[in-house]
Amino acid sequence: KIPEVNSDFYDLNSLLTEEEKAIRLKVRKFMEEEVEPIANEYWKKGEFPHELIPKMAALNICGLTFDGVGSSNQSYLLEGLISMEMARIDTSISTFFGVQAGLAMGSIYFCGSQEQKDYWLPKMQTMETIGAFGLTEPLVGSAVAGGLTTTAKREGDTWILNGQKKWIGNATFSDITIIWAQDVDDKQVKGFIVEKETPGFHPEKIEDKMALRTVQNAVITLKNCKVSEANRLQKANSFKDTAKVLKMTRAGVAWQAVGCAIGAYENALKYATNREQFGKPIASFQLVQDLLVKMLSNLTSMQTLVFRLSQLQDAGTMTDEQASLAKVTCTMHTREIVSQAREIMGGNGILLEYNVARFVADAEAVYSYEGTKQINSLIVGRAITGLSAFV
Ligand code: FAD
Repeated sequence: KIPEVNSDFYDLNSLLTEEEKAIRLKVRKFMEEEVEPIANEYWKKGEFPHELIPKMAALNICGLTFDGVGSSNQSYLLEGLISMEMARIDTSISTFFGVQAGLAMGSIYFCGSQEQKDYWLPKMQTMETIGAFGLTEPLVGSAVAGGLTTTAKREGDTWILNGQKKWIGNATFSDITIIWAQDVDDKQVKGFIVEKETPGFHPEKIEDKMALRTVQNAVITLKNCKVSEANRLQKANSFKDTAKVLKMTRAGVAWQAVGCAIGAYENALKYATNREQFGKPIASFQLVQDLLVKMLSNLTSMQTLVFRLSQLQDAGTMTDEQASLAKVTCTMHTREIVSQAREIMGGNGILLEYNVARFVADAEAVYSYEGTKQINSLIVGRAITGLSAFV
């Protein structure tokens, strides 16, 4: 008899509250029933399944940790588990959700005035308003803290934005995009809520990606794009404020990497127990078992790491360095695990229909976004040595 696949080897699930367990299961069911059957098809086409948005909205899981929004006051732990459950089936959908519920809502939650929060967050919570987050630029990626080239110039009660953004997830169809730009007068980074139809705001889809193909990433050109002072994030006064959002979402990306690795591991384990060579399931061979155990071993370390990370986040004590270390560790192991999963599947591992190839490709993007391995390592390096490699 083939045992049930259980990638939660140390039963972390038992540490959750009954409510957390129920929400986690609800998300798992949605991902298995609604997303898994269409995931490869949309990934192949490079299109986004818009029909999923109302179904996702009905789960009522957007902005769970934000005070005063929907069914708020849930833990970061639960939010992490949701990212993981989504990525376990489709890392693109997890990314779409992370941009909406993390980067875009988080920017307004951490950097908006009470009025801005009251106006936007309820609509984003119900997913009636979809958001995007525009920080990276064609010529400024890792160095965003050191100076954006997109500019904001104040003229009375209007701001005029000029420049370009690159890689902006959801931006081809989002209702609002948070644009980060440098104020030409005080040289500080400010955030703006730019509505879809604003003249001078031009998103263009990035084609031919080899990872996260379902996510719609855009290059945005801002040409004398006028935004009112009312749409400037009132509490975003420098890059330090932008960094508050990134600290939270980096922790979420670590969880996402865990989900991506679990998805590949579970598929490879099932395959290994079914596939026969030399008259026996390949899972019975010692070298295949060794590979499966290596994968599980790293997966288990990753799960315990992000579990503890979220506990620190819930206690309000998580540092930037702790989030960065988890992001580096999990995305590095994920890259290795997805490639081991592919190896176990032989030639079939490179076919989309066997449900591992997509994870192999998607792991590459998760490895690089929200701060590359090098940048997050240097953030940790600065903390442990007291010496900054950035200066
Ligand atoms: P670069 O900064 O050009 O880096 C290239 C290489 O140089 C990397 O290996 C890097 O680690 C290395 N490097 C750079 N500086 C140093 C250094 N000081 N020391 C050592 N090595 C260094 N951005 C958004 O704003 N919004 C989004 O929604 C968004 N979504 C994304 C989705 C996807 C699929 C991808 C791929 C990216 C997305 N990004 C988004 C952008 C992402 O955050 C950047 O790609 C990332 O920060 C790296 O920037 P870069 O690609 O310009 O690489």
